[in-house]
Amino acid sequence: MHARIHNFNAGPAALPLPVLEEIKDSFLNFKESGMSITEVSHRSKWFDDVINDAIERTKRLLKLNDRYKVLFIQGGASMQFCMAPLNFLSDGRSADYINTGTWSAKAIKEAEIQNKPIKVAASSEDKNFCYIPENIPFNKDAVYVHLTSNNTIKGTQFESLPDTGHIPMVIDMSSDIMSRPVDMGDIGMIYAGAQKNIGPAGVCMVIIRQDLLDLVPDNIPSMLSYATFANKNSMFNTPPCFSIYTIALVLKWLEETIGGLEKMDMLNRKKASLLYDFIDNSDFYNATAEKGSRSLMNVTFRLPAAGLEKSFVEKAIDNGLGGLKGHRSVGGCRASIYNATGIDAINDLVSFMKLFEKNAG
Ligand SMILES: *Cc1c(COP(=O)(O)O)cnc(C)c1O
Repeated sequence: MHARIHNFNAGPAALPLPVLEEIKDSFLNFKESGMSITEVSHRSKWFDDVINDAIERTKRLLKLNDRYKVLFIQGGASMQFCMAPLNFLSDGRSADYINTGTWSAKAIKEAEIQNKPIKVAASSEDKNFCYIPENIPFNKDAVYVHLTSNNTIKGTQFESLPDTGHIPMVIDMSSDIMSRPVDMGDIGMIYAGAQKNIGPAGVCMVIIRQDLLDLVPDNIPSMLSYATFANKNSMFNTPPCFSIYTIALVLKWLEETIGGLEKMDMLNRKKASLLYDFIDNSDFYNATAEKGSRSLMNVTFRLPAAGLEKSFVEKAIDNGLGGLKGHRSVGGCRASIYNATGIDAINDLVSFMKLFEKNAG
């Protein structure tokens, strides 16, 4: 048995080792409370400090101004697919959606289920979502523009955000939040299921510009209303305390060990280019995303045959490299190389890929 493997899972995904160690060390007696973090009251000073620490660190890392509130909501990113249209499109107005793959399509579906008059302003479906659309004609009456900044399954990512002409963007950043600095300019809301890049499953981080709260109607269920979470510091009911605590530790690691998002971005670029350069120089491995649209977080690639892909994934596990199977909907292989995945993991992966190619050829 390997002690710990290099974990390339797409989500839940790798967490920084120092974070896991800190959880372990403080688990039985959190801050001299005589209890673990999973046992203290969410109304206690202990937990208040935890959630406020997570919020403050988020604001510092993303350089948020006072117009933004940081919320923690259960139900994952998938819940946000329904909450955004429910909260922002109550008066019959429309929103624009960019369809760049599976998760965008699910967001579109959840708005359509509610009979919200949304428009798909651009889609990359014509080429199996291998690229990010450009020069998108937005409807100037749209309340918001929804997009998925990083497409976890298809392995594409917006290199920079589109120009929406000041229409607020609502962005699903589940798989690239905190991986790079973000220009908050026209961003109305960011949401991210924690389990990809910032913590364990069980919570979705929502960063909302407060003017959007004016759109929220009174006649929707409390637990589906952003106003409820904003007014109660995400503690209208019991929040997912352990998940929020872990997020706070991950953000502390990002600030204090990594040194912020510019540094993280540099590391992530280095990691991704090591892997893409190797793949591009090989006749055996083929990257599936177009250059210019490639994700720095999820590197998707194919081998010459499905049988080879299967044995690649199996042999990789024998070599301490886990989670390389592509999403079941697309097949192939995928290395998810989020913040917590170190350059050593990429080097070991590339060495293994060389060896596998040699033995297969
Ligand atoms: C994983 C993922 C989701 C779904 O997240 P859940 O928290 O499981 O609902 C949504 N969007 C993107 C981009 C994802 O990567």
